[in-house]
Amino acid sequence: MADLTYEDWLAAARNLTPETRPFIAGGFVDPLSGNTFPSTSPRDGRVLAHVADCGADDVNRAVRAAREAFEDGRWRELPPRDRKRILLRWAELVQDHAGELALLDTLEMGKPIAEALRVDVAKTAETLAWYAETVDKTYDEVAPTPGNALALITREPLGVVGAVVPWNYALLIASWKLGPALATGNSVVLKPAEQTSLATLVLARLASEAGLPDGVLNVVPGRGEVTGQALGRHPDVDKIAFTGSPEVARLFQVYAGESNGKQVAVEAGGKSPQLILRDADLPAAASAVTWGIFYNAGQTCNAGSRVIVPAELKDRLLAEVAKITRETFRVGDPLDPATVLGPLVDEVQLDRVVGYLDTGREQGASFVLGGNRVLAETGGSYLEPTVLDGVRPDAVVAREEIFGPVLAVLTYDGDVDEGVRLANDTDYGLVASVWTRDVTTAHRVAKRLRAGTVWVNTFDASDVITPFGGFKATGAGRDKSLHALDAYTALKTTWLDLA
Ligand code: NAD
Repeated sequence: MADLTYEDWLAAARNLTPETRPFIAGGFVDPLSGNTFPSTSPRDGRVLAHVADCGADDVNRAVRAAREAFEDGRWRELPPRDRKRILLRWAELVQDHAGELALLDTLEMGKPIAEALRVDVAKTAETLAWYAETVDKTYDEVAPTPGNALALITREPLGVVGAVVPWNYALLIASWKLGPALATGNSVVLKPAEQTSLATLVLARLASEAGLPDGVLNVVPGRGEVTGQALGRHPDVDKIAFTGSPEVARLFQVYAGESNGKQVAVEAGGKSPQLILRDADLPAAASAVTWGIFYNAGQTCNAGSRVIVPAELKDRLLAEVAKITRETFRVGDPLDPATVLGPLVDEVQLDRVVGYLDTGREQGASFVLGGNRVLAETGGSYLEPTVLDGVRPDAVVAREEIFGPVLAVLTYDGDVDEGVRLANDTDYGLVASVWTRDVTTAHRVAKRLRAGTVWVNTFDASDVITPFGGFKATGAGRDKSLHALDAYTALKTTWLDLA
């Protein structure tokens, strides 16, 4: 794939006829709702396809298929080695179909094709394979009872899991839910974001080709307030695993409370700080700051959207950030393998981000870089990489998640304590970084930063082997690592009297 040229990708895009119907009980079916919505590409504003807009009846059908598959044990009662083999085969098929998946993802959400291949598709396959390997390596427990009893503590799958995911890493975040949910024997109904249904439908088709029994994985595309809500309120769904905005995360908690009290695990964004201390390696920090905010056009839940830097180091840091940005983050067509910065996901998101820039300006921020819409003649939703200086800690652009290529620069004159206080002065708590050469300071500050992941002298280093999630408004859900297996299982005690 890496050797395909811009022309190759353009030709592949012209020949697309993507599947748009829901995937239920092992195949694509016509939606009962009879409705569709247009999926528009942010690279040029053109309609890619008309996607099924599933209604409550379609969600019912998918949940029924998932429940049947769960109750008759066609998946959870397969020998662990067989489940492992099927999930591993699925991971292989994802890698074999990397071009198809990456192309759809790039067309749907504007992610540069090179990144869709290198990160989204490759890591989705890796995540599925990693969880496949847990299936026949996970043991249960025996409690320390007296000799006249035996108590087994076993992990049981929850039943039907509703996974509701965003568009920014559509396949990867789906795999963070699907890997552990399926490895532990659950059935899943997956609701992709409106912007990224097409690649997700391919993922389901490949699961079936790998041998996943019918009904174990179902995908219902549709609008959040209709399809997502129907899943959230469904009385026969046992758990919702959600990633998205804090507002919608809270709606799912309401849906659960007003229906069957299902479990709800959420991961809902951040306003993550990169805290620069006076002894930091400034060029290394500048590189991480630049990549940390402009990667995926800033549409990353753990984007480093606030940099907190000693006032006297700010100019040097920003000069370096500007240099790296000019050299690397050229805005362009995401189908060009040379593009590093593609468009925002759609016009709504572009308008939202531009609105934040206007607010930033009104509240006294100055533009060190960018600030303008570009390539409007393409019909796409492109924005320059933007750096806002002179941002006050109480300014809107310092507090709210912008979800675009916009860095807020905050300075401090005092000691480390002031830097830590500014870093923690946020409603969110997903990730944070600290830059220092002193190992003791690094440990001390890392302990005090209120975030689910703290990076020291790096940013966005991650792997399926460590948990991902946060504190405060980010929500309490944790994806990835072996701990995610606990999120899709319940403990059961079986007590035997041996007397
Ligand atoms: P969103 O909350 O609008 O949508 C997420 C999902 O919820 C989508 O599938 C959507 O269709 C559905 N949805 C929307 N409204 C709904 C409703 N009323 N009822 C039921 N379902 C509904 O978020 P988004 O715009 O897709 O993604 C961007 C947001 O996601 C950002 O705020 C970002 O920070 C967050 N995010 C967080 C993480 C994380 O790991 N913490 C990861 C990625 C994205």
